[in-house]
Amino acid sequence: MSEVVDPATGEVVGSVPATSVGEVDAAIARADAAFRRWRAVAPGERARVLRRFAAVVDAHLEELARLEVRNSGHTIGNARWEAGNVRDVLDYYAGAPERLTGRQIPVPGGLDVTFHEPLGVVGVIVPWNFPMPIAAWGFAPALAAGNTVVLKPAELTPLTALRLAELAREAGVPDDVFTVLPGAGSVVGERFVTHPAVRKVCFTGSTEVGTRIMAGCAAQVKRLTLELGGKSANLVFADADLERAAATAPYAVFDNAGQDCCARSRILVQRPVYDRFLELLEPAVRALRVEDPARDTAEMGPLISAAQRDRVAGYVDGAKIAFAGSRPDGPGFWYAPTVLLADSPADRHWREEIFGPVVSVLPFDDEADAIRLANDTEYGLSGSVWTRDVGRAVRVARAVEAGNLSVNSHSSVRYWTPFGGMKRSGLGRELGPDALHAFTDVKNVFIATEE
Ligand code: NAP
Ligand code: MG
Repeated sequence: MSEVVDPATGEVVGSVPATSVGEVDAAIARADAAFRRWRAVAPGERARVLRRFAAVVDAHLEELARLEVRNSGHTIGNARWEAGNVRDVLDYYAGAPERLTGRQIPVPGGLDVTFHEPLGVVGVIVPWNFPMPIAAWGFAPALAAGNTVVLKPAELTPLTALRLAELAREAGVPDDVFTVLPGAGSVVGERFVTHPAVRKVCFTGSTEVGTRIMAGCAAQVKRLTLELGGKSANLVFADADLERAAATAPYAVFDNAGQDCCARSRILVQRPVYDRFLELLEPAVRALRVEDPARDTAEMGPLISAAQRDRVAGYVDGAKIAFAGSRPDGPGFWYAPTVLLADSPADRHWREEIFGPVVSVLPFDDEADAIRLANDTEYGLSGSVWTRDVGRAVRVARAVEAGNLSVNSHSSVRYWTPFGGMKRSGLGRELGPDALHAFTDVKNVFIATEE
């Protein structure tokens, strides 16, 4: 059993059994047997089951959101969005089984057609920062394509995944088609990598563990999607709407207490407006409502654990602090949103993913300088460009080596557009029209027609 803690209070809110290797193997064997049946379910019926699953999630939105507030310390506003995202992703991929069409390719002497065949059992490994959406981005398209799913939630945040598995059953998802297996990464997650019946692994988490998982999957040429870390840049040019850029920058990095792989944790400001930008940023950071995440007014909650809070504090020690926001007193793993001034791109807080409410600011000279600094990182997940010059916006968005760019906005995730990283931020894409194909292999069939 492992204890589950409310990060806003530090109190134990429940305990969850840790699945043993033997139990994981048994669950994978059942999922493998269920695969033979699930892939044979008619596309229209598979679609109906997924729509029912979406409807049951919708009917439990508030319950799921409250559970996430308690287990993960997410603000209630965010948690409602996250539960709604599970519903939307299920609805979106419910449209897929009936549209999973192959091609007919002209060849001499016969008919050539392609099929998108499901893979088998898919193992989804989920981190603690967005337990519900990241789970759904894996299981919804995997199930739609005809695979069965075993899912390991993070040890710190298993409660909503376990509830989603119950809701799936209630919606009529057949036995062993979607199984949630709480437990340790080194036990349950590792077994997804080594078990030959698991044909694909979807991993979201640290670049360090993701790199090891990729090496493990190589031994079996196992299919793999990786969503890893980030150190994304928010580029503010002198001609930008500075008020809006400064008013929105805190939300682009402090949302979910900065525990977001897309966090714009490096702000680059063109030198002529650098001082003015910081003047505008300060009141926006100080006004951020860091409070009990269950309150409707909360804009930021606690960090996930005491260990994460200490890790974050380690980056601020000895750094140049421009200003900071507030945090409640008392128990819980709170950290005030903090703005650091980087002396140079060599600063540790400028280079490493902090995964907390800390942002670093650095001035730049011109467009070429901005692009060079933005790309001077091993990561490439997302980024923002603030400018009123349309040509520059397009040039810079094309030049920044990251999978998800936004112009005069900080949006990264829409379930109907592709999401994923370049460089060490990941491999493959989730969401959007193409993610489904990542859960299939193409089969080519030639049928001779000559007598
Ligand atoms: P992590 O260790 O990569 O954990 C992510 C998931 O992988 C968890 O479910 C974890 O299980 C599991 N796991 C751990 N070791 C494994 C292994 N050897 N084989 C298979 N699965 C394994 O990330 P973390 O320790 O929670 O966070 C560390 C740092 O990673 C963060 O501070 C942040 O910088 C980064 N991170 C990034 C993202 C992202 O969205 N890109 C998400 C989370 C963290 P357990 O629950 O048992 O650990
Ligand atoms: Mg870890």
